[in-house]
Amino acid sequence: MNTRYPAIRVTDQELLRQRYEALSLNERPWNLIYGCQPVSEACKSCFAQDGLSRFHINAGRAPHASARHRPVIVPAALAEPACWTTPQQVTVAPLSDLFQPEVPADFVGRVIQTIAAHPQHFFHITTRYPQRMRTLLGSGQLPGNLSLGVAAEDGASYAERVPYLFDMPAAWRHVVLEPLLGAVDVERIDLPTRDILWPLEGIVQQYLGVDADSRPQWLSKGDPLRRYEPLDWVLLGGERGAQPRPPHPEWVRRVRDACRDAEVPFFFRGWGDSVITRNPDPDDTRLVIVSADGSRRGRGAGSAINQLSVVDNDVYFTRLLHGDEPIQFYLDGQRHREVPDVSLRHAKLRLVDVSPLARQLMERIEQGPGPSGPTTQEYIEARGVAGRKSAAADKRRPRRSHTPSFKAQIAVAALQGEASVADLSQRFDVHRNQITQWRAQLLERAAELFDGLPEKPGRGRR
Ligand code: SF4
Repeated sequence: MNTRYPAIRVTDQELLRQRYEALSLNERPWNLIYGCQPVSEACKSCFAQDGLSRFHINAGRAPHASARHRPVIVPAALAEPACWTTPQQVTVAPLSDLFQPEVPADFVGRVIQTIAAHPQHFFHITTRYPQRMRTLLGSGQLPGNLSLGVAAEDGASYAERVPYLFDMPAAWRHVVLEPLLGAVDVERIDLPTRDILWPLEGIVQQYLGVDADSRPQWLSKGDPLRRYEPLDWVLLGGERGAQPRPPHPEWVRRVRDACRDAEVPFFFRGWGDSVITRNPDPDDTRLVIVSADGSRRGRGAGSAINQLSVVDNDVYFTRLLHGDEPIQFYLDGQRHREVPDVSLRHAKLRLVDVSPLARQLMERIEQGPGPSGPTTQEYIEARGVAGRKSAAADKRRPRRSHTPSFKAQIAVAALQGEASVADLSQRFDVHRNQITQWRAQLLERAAELFDGLPEKPGRGRR
């Protein structure tokens, strides 16, 4: 019995599936990796650990505590896009992060190659490791059926991660503000050079210095230092999990309004596992009061003081209950489910040769793991993870024929009960079903052995 990871009940699995579907907008998950190394405050409530635990449970093993966050890579899943018969919207590695340091560079290269080889599908990759994304993919061409995105949870992480996204040769760019834990100014990012990046407009405004009164000056936006395509999509949502930290509605409104003004599609994924309540119950142990300055208090906020006093603009949230699901997707009485223009998608779709990029990632490996991490093969050998066996891999295994005496030897051993069928299966490398079948055949046909043999005198026929 696995005590470290108790078996997940069906209802829990179903809940996880439903949550995942709500998160992923019904996109098809492409589970190439399970588990992830937490990188920031948002990771506290991430489902990656649940996904990794489930993966290990399904494989019948319990990882050592030190391997809790170690991702598991499933190379066999690279074959999946070829099996999808209709065009799909695909979320790449939704229970992990493709650019975390443990994922080998050559594996990232193989993922990009697979995406480029299936232009009928459209893929979304979102990361909280944008620096590594740029290191690995920043210098090559990227396929037109791929949208690259960064995830951020507050103003600081947005300002730190989004500039990397604009440094990528991506045809599509998106930002995921989920779980939103603080206010974000999506319109403007002050770069270390003091230039200003305007992500929703796709321009960098040049810093000129200070004027006679020491006031900073910039060149006009109409004459930008650099021009990019603006962000293609902004998605936003609240936190999920046992102790959700809901966002203040004012933060959500600011993002929505900025996107509307800049004509960037905005998709609201809901308040997470909390809902706004107009009639707060002071005895509600899950009550959370959120202030516009980002502070959260109340019984459900884990506060030692449990302050329930409110000031202007505070908003009450309570835990999401069964039946509340429809209202959790509303902001000011409206749903916001805008998506990028599909006709643009055809216009932007470009078929590119990604093999130079893939080759480059392979060359990193030949020069040694270095900052790119181990190779996929080294990774698998070190972790003892063989990945899921695909049907194709099964087919490739040569069919073996066993001699009658070999079958008899194993069937007899199974009948005598010297070892369990599982042990015999392992010892002789024969499938358990096969051993059970041989044992049944031996029992069935045992009587034939005595047919026609002369009976010994003095013994009657039974
Ligand atoms: S980086 Fe993303 S996938 Fe990884 S733990 Fe954090 S939220 Fe989860």
